[in-house]
Amino acid sequence: MSTETHGTPKSNTALRVKALESLLLEKGLIDPAALDEVIDTYENKIGPKNGAKVVARAWTDPEYKKRLLTDGSAAIAELGYSGVQGEDMVVVENTPEVHNIVVCTLCSCFPWPTLGLPPVWYKSAPYRSRAAIDPRGVLREFGVNIPEGVEVRVWDSNAELRYLVLPERPPATEGMSEAELAALVTRDSMIGVTKIEPAKK
Ligand code: FE
Repeated sequence: MSTETHGTPKSNTALRVKALESLLLEKGLIDPAALDEVIDTYENKIGPKNGAKVVARAWTDPEYKKRLLTDGSAAIAELGYSGVQGEDMVVVENTPEVHNIVVCTLCSCFPWPTLGLPPVWYKSAPYRSRAAIDPRGVLREFGVNIPEGVEVRVWDSNAELRYLVLPERPPATEGMSEAELAALVTRDSMIGVTKIEPAKK
């Protein structure tokens, strides 16, 4: 249930997870390095790569992009990504006029099927409070300067809705394949805290 990670106490779950991990380590049933590997896989490898494929498809297929911006959940499910913590997806597009940034001010709601596990900073109190109050300041800390004339929109995730930012396609990528484009897309750009760097020559 998606409600489990939003607005309800999760300290109990966190404690149980920690206790289970300690017990498994103590009994020699798991190798801490292997556990880190599993977490790294979900946090950095599988998760954001799915989202990156969605973005690359939208960049190369205008009809898909239309569907993605109209009904995010259905269009993302077309590529096979759906399920827990990604049932109701809204995709918001960055343009030269609008920059979108996603936060969960209450806790840490995050679209797992497309982006994997939320990074530590996303769950931190400073990000959660400041992204809503001073998004331009937060973006500057991530190295992104949003010009005055560009509107910044903040999207607050919740138990029902999860957001994915469709970043702007970087310049000089016209000849690239969908797979090559997907490789350029970072997790943070799909949260809206960074932009995608132009491809290296
Ligand atoms: Fe949340």
